[in-house]
Amino acid sequence: MSLDIKPLSRYDSSMPLEDHVGDIIRKSRLGLGIPANRVATAGRITPEHLAEFEEHGQPRDGVHFAGISELLTLDRAKMEALLDGWEPSNHDITRWHHLRQIETDDGGMAVNCFLVWDHDSGAAGLFDTGWTLKPIQTYLEQQRLQLQHLFLTHSHHDHIAALGAIRKLAPELRLHSKIQGAPAEQRLNPGDEFEIGTLRVRFRGTPGHAEDGVTYLIDGFPNQVPAIAIVGDAIFAGSMGGARAHFDLARAKIREEILSLPGDTLLCPGHGPITTVAEEVAHNPFFH
Ligand SMILES: [Zn+2]
Repeated sequence: MSLDIKPLSRYDSSMPLEDHVGDIIRKSRLGLGIPANRVATAGRITPEHLAEFEEHGQPRDGVHFAGISELLTLDRAKMEALLDGWEPSNHDITRWHHLRQIETDDGGMAVNCFLVWDHDSGAAGLFDTGWTLKPIQTYLEQQRLQLQHLFLTHSHHDHIAALGAIRKLAPELRLHSKIQGAPAEQRLNPGDEFEIGTLRVRFRGTPGHAEDGVTYLIDGFPNQVPAIAIVGDAIFAGSMGGARAHFDLARAKIREEILSLPGDTLLCPGHGPITTVAEEVAHNPFFH
């Protein structure tokens, strides 16, 4: 298992997007339940060409983009911008005292978790666990933090793999989620708010990718920086989490609960780079 710990001071601008245009086409096709051959026909290409495009993310010449984007209810101009290399701007998260993005990888499947803390008290909150305890423990020890809260965005394995190890490290930790079957005291209730020093954490239900999907809003950072939203796999920079069974619900919740936030809200997704509401409104092809 390899381990990638983000440097303490900088956001790694080299982090690639989670999805290419081929992934976006496949997610939309599966979400809408449209057979691949209909998508190929709409794009005036062969099914083999479509399969290759979905796999590698770059079409050969001659694709009729207007046909594909209309059938799949995707924004054509935004897809073309992605093909031309659009990426979210390089957000300097050192402005958010104190926010860390921690990416762990189990050999091909990278996932982000996020750590925030209050400067004065050292009280800390973790959002998802990623694959391993090690980098989280390193931060906690380096910064002398007391991990008080663990907020889960959803119950997919890559997001909670280190849960047992973290609970062992911090037995007093309070858990929060909408995971079915979790003990009542760990379940989020409407209107719940949590304080981590000066930081305030609230939540919004964002089911679709996962039934128990939650987005956490955090404000109260020093220096009056914008609020941040920990979105799990609801939305990614330039894409969204797969939602084969609940595609319409997923898109509706992203629109209502995430893209309705102030444009400068920093979006911290479970995979791929950090982005903002304004950038996703302008560039995410799932939303017109
Ligand atoms: Zn997931």
